[in-house]
Amino acid sequence: MKTLQWTLTIIKPDAVRKHGIGDIIEQFEKNGFRILCMKMLEISKHQAEQFYAVHAGKAFFNSLTDFMSSGPIVVLALEKENAIADLRKLMGATNPANAEEGTIRKKWATSIELNAIHGSDAEDSARFELSYFFAGYELAQ
Ligand code: GDP
Repeated sequence: MKTLQWTLTIIKPDAVRKHGIGDIIEQFEKNGFRILCMKMLEISKHQAEQFYAVHAGKAFFNSLTDFMSSGPIVVLALEKENAIADLRKLMGATNPANAEEGTIRKKWATSIELNAIHGSDAEDSARFELSYFFAGYELAQ
C-alpha cells in the first residue's frame, strides 16, 4: 500500500564542500520528492551528538559528530509516497563501496563516514528528525 510520507534528509558537510548541493537537490526533484522546507545551517558538536544520540557509545560516534559539526549542512523536509524507503534507495548504501550505480552516495560519498547524505530510516526517526530541525509552523501546509 502506498502512503504519503515525510522524511528528513541532510546534505552533509563533505557534499556541501564538494559543491554537491544543486545536483543532490535535483535528484530529489527528479525522483518525485516534493520539498516542503529547507535550510542551510551549521550545527555544534553538542547538537550533532543529540541528533545522532542513537549511535552514542559506538566507535565512530566521536568522529561522526566532529564531522557533522565541521561545516555547513543543508536540511530538507521531503514529501512523497513511501518517501522514507524511496529516499534510502536513492541515497545508496552507507558504505559507498557498496552503493549502487546511480545513487547519491555512489556519486558524492568519499568514505563510510563522509558519505554525503543522511535520510531518516523509519517513521519514528523521521518524526524525531523533522522536529529536531523544523518547527511546526515551518511544515504547516
Ligand atoms: P545511514 O543510516 O546509512 O546514514 O547509516 P547509520 O545510521 O548506520 O550511521 C550513521 C552515520 O554514521 C553514517 O551515515 C556514517 O556517516 C557514519 N557511520 C556509520 N557506520 C560507520 C562506520 O563503521 N565507521 C565510521 N567512521 N562512520 C560510520
